[in-house]
Amino acid sequence: MGRRGLLQGALAATLWSIFTGRAMAVPPAVKDMKGVEDLQKNWKLLLAEGVKPPLPTEPVKLAKDEWRKRLSPPAYNVLREEGTERAGTSPLDREKREGVFACAGCDLPLFTSAMKFDSGTGWPSFFTTIPGVFGITTDYKLLYPRTEYHCIRCGGHHGHLFDDGPPPTGKRYCNNGVALKFIPKSGKA
Ligand SMILES: [Zn+2]
Repeated sequence: MGRRGLLQGALAATLWSIFTGRAMAVPPAVKDMKGVEDLQKNWKLLLAEGVKPPLPTEPVKLAKDEWRKRLSPPAYNVLREEGTERAGTSPLDREKREGVFACAGCDLPLFTSAMKFDSGTGWPSFFTTIPGVFGITTDYKLLYPRTEYHCIRCGGHHGHLFDDGPPPTGKRYCNNGVALKFIPKSGKA
């Protein structure tokens, strides 16, 4: 990134902090939508060598008790019952290594480390996703409508999508960390 890009990034960051009131947030180092498209197209560059991820087109359908066996109780609560983990409890919120975030229910890659930003909310947050991996619904659990998103492969609930993310997408995918598993690019867990 050139000096001009850095200055533009700093300006966008400042404006974003003012608008959202999140002084601690660090915006992503992506200048424009072309940069976002490149991240989406080239997401496999952050996949560890030798990992063969499943495809969104291979659905996973399990009975409730099979999911209970496969998932930890907190992961079951989020993925299968649309629960929300307590803010600040997921170590993945602070994960800064290069790699890929996959669905804890079915291993489908959902985000890369290059799509992550520190929203200051206490939940892992992303400004875009690997293409075609989520389905979207509207829920009214908090009385007002929220955009819920779930894994297209296993149907597992991941989080909610908000329009107060950093530029250039303006999107904030607020994800439960317990619904994710991190695959570091180095291959070392
Ligand atoms: Zn899944």
